[in-house]
Amino acid sequence: MLANLDEFKKQANYINGEWVNADSGETFDVHNPATGELIGAVPNSNGTETARAIEAAHKAFNTFRHVSVKERTAMLRRLRRLIIDNQEVLAQILAEEQGKPIAEARGEVRMSASYAMWFAEEARRVYGGTVPSPWADRRIMVTKEPVGVVGAITPWNFPSSMLARKIAPAIATGCTIVCKPAEATPFSGLAWGLLCEMAGVPKGVVNILTGDPVEIGKELTANPLVRKITFTGSTRVGKILMTQSVPTVKKISMEMGGNAPFIVFDDADVDRAVEGAMASKYRNSGQTCVCTNRLYVQSGIHDKFVKKFVEASEAMKIGQSNEEGVVQGPLINEAAVTKTEDFVEDAVSKGGKIITGGKRHQLGHGFFEPTVITDATLDMKFSKEETFAPIAPVYKFETEEEVVQMANDTEFGLACYFYTQDLGRTFRVMEGLEYGLVGVNEGVITAVEAPFGGFKESGVGKEGGHQGIQDYLEEKYVCIGGLGL
Ligand code: ADP
Repeated sequence: MLANLDEFKKQANYINGEWVNADSGETFDVHNPATGELIGAVPNSNGTETARAIEAAHKAFNTFRHVSVKERTAMLRRLRRLIIDNQEVLAQILAEEQGKPIAEARGEVRMSASYAMWFAEEARRVYGGTVPSPWADRRIMVTKEPVGVVGAITPWNFPSSMLARKIAPAIATGCTIVCKPAEATPFSGLAWGLLCEMAGVPKGVVNILTGDPVEIGKELTANPLVRKITFTGSTRVGKILMTQSVPTVKKISMEMGGNAPFIVFDDADVDRAVEGAMASKYRNSGQTCVCTNRLYVQSGIHDKFVKKFVEASEAMKIGQSNEEGVVQGPLINEAAVTKTEDFVEDAVSKGGKIITGGKRHQLGHGFFEPTVITDATLDMKFSKEETFAPIAPVYKFETEEEVVQMANDTEFGLACYFYTQDLGRTFRVMEGLEYGLVGVNEGVITAVEAPFGGFKESGVGKEGGHQGIQDYLEEKYVCIGGLGL
């Protein structure tokens, strides 16, 4: 089944299977970050509409939880098919509101389809168990049940696939869900409403609304009908949502900020390391929570690596998402550009040397030049903070011990990468790094089959992998007695 771009670009909330406006009739504008052009307006909802969506999800849960797993799997398979069939339109909507090159947008949409498929497959393997009983006349059973209504809040950097990671396991387990996509990129989120409608997902199972993040977040966390909050975004907001979830003791899954180190040892294959660093640093213009934030390069290979990395950075084609050959788009908004300038200024004032880039790109709007800064030191802001920008600070190091210590010197623990050809070092460093995701001689490692999630202040819980479905399930212990034995 196909829909055209106008049909997919919904400018209304999807609540209980209906397309509705905010109660106030108010909307907010959405702009293309590459041109500043107005691309549409979506409902400016608040707590009232959220409460209504939760009510609908709660009502739907009472029946959806009993829909057979075979049927729910079929819905997810239909969703996957629809996403693949409509890939081009979905990618266009995504690229227009987010700014990423169309090839990356297509890749993200395919990833969404893969999540639908993965959770369709996982749904059929939600096994419970029996436990040897300590009593002769009783038996112990452990069953799995859906947690109930899920509240989901997603970011603008992956506006399609971050919803996929939450909507697909909800459907797989028989949960229902209320989603709030990010203000900057609501259209890819609302498109999920149409996809669910087309896939025959029952009314109220998936609800999507846009609007005031604070008010919607408050209702999602305070409402006792919501049993789980799943969030992807900054650590700052994640902590607010965790705190707000305490009074009603909700289950939580949090994918929050990162500060990924990328370590290149003297014995690394330098070309492979450069290739990995390019992908890991500049993907989505540096705006992913697993993007390299800090590059640590051992002194023996430092100059060679920097030379090749700078050449590759300068060769990147920057431009509009739909231009042929473009590999880097703009940052999401003006505030992101100002913040990037601030990181660069701070580094330069503390002795950092700009080898390439360092300023706004001549294309204007959200564009920033790919930037490599050497002589980075631990007192520079990007040593501690996530940049979410195409700036690559390079720190020179001497020993393995020293670099593992520096890499771990952060409250974050999401992704990290290192390059070496030494087997012993591979295990020592892998085991020493306090991170949830480790790329060894690989710069892009996300896969639906693997558990994605951070250590420390980067998160709680996993998305994807066989672990990803467990967060949507409750385990119930059943003791059966009086067996007459
Ligand atoms: P980013 O830095 O990626 O913009 P945010 O954490 O600010 O990350 O945003 C991620 C998501 O959280 C977005 O959907 C945003 O609207 C939402 N959000 C921001 N502030 C709040 C809040 N106080 N309560 C609930 N959601 C929020």
